[in-house]
Amino acid sequence: MGFMADKLYWRDPYLHAFDADVVRTHGNALVLDKTAFYPTSGGQQNDTGKILLESQEFRVIDVKEENGEILHTLDKECVIRPGTMVHCSIDWDRRYRLMRNHTALHVIIGVIVSKYDRNGRSTGGQIYEDKARMDFDVEGFNREMAEKVIADANAVVLEDRKVIAKFLSREEAREISNLSRTMPGDDLLKSLETIRVIEIEGLDIQNDGGTHVRSTKEVGTIKLLKFENNGKHNKRIVIALDAL
Ligand SMILES: [Zn+2]
Repeated sequence: MGFMADKLYWRDPYLHAFDADVVRTHGNALVLDKTAFYPTSGGQQNDTGKILLESQEFRVIDVKEENGEILHTLDKECVIRPGTMVHCSIDWDRRYRLMRNHTALHVIIGVIVSKYDRNGRSTGGQIYEDKARMDFDVEGFNREMAEKVIADANAVVLEDRKVIAKFLSREEAREISNLSRTMPGDDLLKSLETIRVIEIEGLDIQNDGGTHVRSTKEVGTIKLLKFENNGKHNKRIVIALDAL
């Protein structure tokens, strides 16, 4: 296990500037004692941004988690003594779009499970800055249903429901049926002592490590860009959001 940084993006997903201490450098990569930079995981793409050290400026071009350690890849090599404080800022426009797209997918799966197929499963998803896709194993899912689901999801967006991130013990998590909607999620529920969940008030609760907006209204209007039928248990939708 590498150094476990304090995950500021979990404490406050709206934090976009912070100071941190360097734990170590490794070529072009930097490990910090705490970070608001989200590493690519759970289908959500990493943040980008910049790190300032006195008069030097580095671009953060990639962020990934390896052996529990969050590595910030910079645009050039850096030699910084451990313990040195750096000023960091994430590209907020990109992050905010990623958050809105991520919450949009949760609204959609929440609508599907609550209204269309109690046992509906998401078999994969990818969240980008400008669009998001989700794969489903949902009974009878077709283009017409996809369009209805998106209309229902847009109604939920307008209801301005709270989106809450919290941690549950494994026992509390067991009490909630259908908490995990994915295979990796099923495995996490078996292995972790505490489980982070995202709840959309009155609609959906599922285990999740991503960053989300505070209320569904911030998602904005969801558009269905594409529906693909890739087999009985494998349907895909691609969505995009209107500018706020
Ligand atoms: Zn998610």
